[in-house]
Amino acid sequence: MSIRGGVSMAIERARSIGCTAMQMFVKNNMQWFARPLRPEEIRAFLNHVQRGELSSIFGHANYLINLAATNPQFHANSIRALSEELVRADQLELPFLVLHPGAHLGAGEEAALEKIVNSIDEVLRKIPHVKTKIALETTAGQGSCLGYRFEHLAYITANVRELQRLVVCLDTAHLFAAGYDIGSETSARKTLREFDRVIGRDRLVAIHLNDSKTARGSRVDRHEHIGKGRIGLDAFRFIMRDRRFRKIPKVLETPKGKELREDVINLKTLRTLAGKQCRSSNAEINPNA
Ligand code: ZN
Ligand code: FE
Ligand code: FE
Repeated sequence: MSIRGGVSMAIERARSIGCTAMQMFVKNNMQWFARPLRPEEIRAFLNHVQRGELSSIFGHANYLINLAATNPQFHANSIRALSEELVRADQLELPFLVLHPGAHLGAGEEAALEKIVNSIDEVLRKIPHVKTKIALETTAGQGSCLGYRFEHLAYITANVRELQRLVVCLDTAHLFAAGYDIGSETSARKTLREFDRVIGRDRLVAIHLNDSKTARGSRVDRHEHIGKGRIGLDAFRFIMRDRRFRKIPKVLETPKGKELREDVINLKTLRTLAGKQCRSSNAEINPNA
């Protein structure tokens, strides 16, 4: 959700369309650095009357960060930017900040994974008091991006010094583009079993629900509206209905305009798949909806 006009505006936007979970950036996502959050901005966010209406609010790191950057200046910027964003996320009491592991840019996957591990250690060492965790996201594997195999994330979590400060986020469009089969309930179950075996389901803290414009295994990351892409509704129905995902916050990262009409439609599609009506209109009939 956009933070245009200040971080607390994201809460209002989310609630205006009936969201119960929200992902936000903690600063302009196309800039390396920003002035620190002002105390009054933090207060406006934390004390917002509608904040409690969202059962989960978490952050997404900016897209410039690459912990495997080969250019020393970009790498230094990445370390600093991630540290600063984790501090901001912590000030807003966000439980975790979603991060793409990084891109090797020709250096090779093994060298890059090693560099990512060392970079995470360095970042976390700089901010020992910060409670916001890093949530590594599975990626589509576009270009030289790592994270398109569960094994990449498993390598990172197995080798960082502070394992307890690292969690994982799944993205359906990324899984699909990376080549994982989630097209039917059976295949989605199988992919989840593999995730469980390689990474561990206990590390999963969030799911990005996006359909994919691109084919399975294309390694191209193009999000599409739910049901309008190549994944098919079965995968989304399974995720919306399976008990194991019930407590995991799910957010959309589908294309949207200023009015958020696309979000409203995608939310409705997902809630219908879950066997629910819109929460706001159904709350009195079924308190568990
Ligand atoms: Zn992401
Ligand atoms: Fe995502
Ligand atoms: Fe993506």
